[in-house]
Amino acid sequence: MNIANRIDCLGTETAFAVSAEAAAFAAKGNHVYPFHLGDMNLPTPSTVVEGAVKAMRDGKTGYCPNAGIPQLREALAENISNSHGVKYGMENVAVQPGGKPVITKFIQAVMNPGDEVLYPNPGYPIYESQIEYYGGTALPYGYKENEGGFAIDIDAIENSITPKTKILILNDLQNPIGAEASPEEFKRLAEIVREHDLMVLCDEAYFEIRYSGKSQSFVSLPGMQERCVILYTFSKKFAMTGWRLGAAVGPENVISVIAKLNVNDESCSNHFNQYGALDGLTGDQTEVMGLLDVLKGRRDAAINALNQIEGIHCVTPASTFYLFPNVTGAMANKGFTDYDVFRKAVLEATGVSFCTRLHFGRQLEGETERYIRFAYSGIDIDQIEEGIGRMK
Ligand code: PLP
Repeated sequence: MNIANRIDCLGTETAFAVSAEAAAFAAKGNHVYPFHLGDMNLPTPSTVVEGAVKAMRDGKTGYCPNAGIPQLREALAENISNSHGVKYGMENVAVQPGGKPVITKFIQAVMNPGDEVLYPNPGYPIYESQIEYYGGTALPYGYKENEGGFAIDIDAIENSITPKTKILILNDLQNPIGAEASPEEFKRLAEIVREHDLMVLCDEAYFEIRYSGKSQSFVSLPGMQERCVILYTFSKKFAMTGWRLGAAVGPENVISVIAKLNVNDESCSNHFNQYGALDGLTGDQTEVMGLLDVLKGRRDAAINALNQIEGIHCVTPASTFYLFPNVTGAMANKGFTDYDVFRKAVLEATGVSFCTRLHFGRQLEGETERYIRFAYSGIDIDQIEEGIGRMK
């Protein structure tokens, strides 16, 4: 059978290929330390599970409204209004089967072929894939490492804007870096967005995966709410990666187009899962907060162990469950120049499986430092210490 030409433009998420490679390595009888995927080995809170089971037993097993059950849309609008300091109603919310569909539906809804889209690189690879698939031009911007962490390269954003640039994709509390913009950086970005009349996708997949301080949303800046669509997901905060539930939150005219895309794509998100998510959102938060405590313990253990390896330097992100250690020295010390050769050599020798910077976009011009990404959401503390100890 012939494959359509447009598929040539479709990218993928190569972290899943690393995951398959690690599984194949394990199938040969090897022990694997899984740091490659942002998946979780923590249980979904019981409030969510019980809510979904009850809904299933109560017969919530048919189709439901395309944009989601009204109770969940309302609860999300209220929850996000409270945490973001802006006002949303249920008309601003379209429930989705995960956070990822918000990326493709936002691009389909607002991007015309030929439009330029600014997106983070290193960053979640689906942005570039979807921009190019729908005929846009992907304009990558990077991050700069400083003593305290990583800062978004706003100069790169400004320098690459042309009259064709229509969209900015922001992933604050960032995957893979764990970077966050400062209030000053947000202010400058908002000025750029206003000046160039941009629309913004705020990917907030990790908004509530935060260990200290409080997250600020870009939508809370003056004039930004009407220009932004938020990607919300239950996957990470509620340890629900396999449930596939999220939402697009933004201006009503865009949300109604996104809901129309729901009709075309999946009719509706899983009906009974939405009742579980509703209970998770509105019920007791003790178990949810407990997940964060576990993740924080893992973060500290992983950073401590990584920083004991000669040639590796790892800063401490306040959010996400990713680390982005600088391995320039370690690679050079052992004579590695190729990321993938390094990654596979570590897997073969120690069983430690991770992604490299190249799984999050092509290397940018002038980039000399080398980074790998460690996800600690799917591995227990003792395994973190043992695995990184073996790497050392
Ligand atoms: N956005 C970012 C930055 C992510 O890291 C992920 C998942 O890893 C998603 C979106 C997609 O989330 P979901 O699993 O809910 O589709």
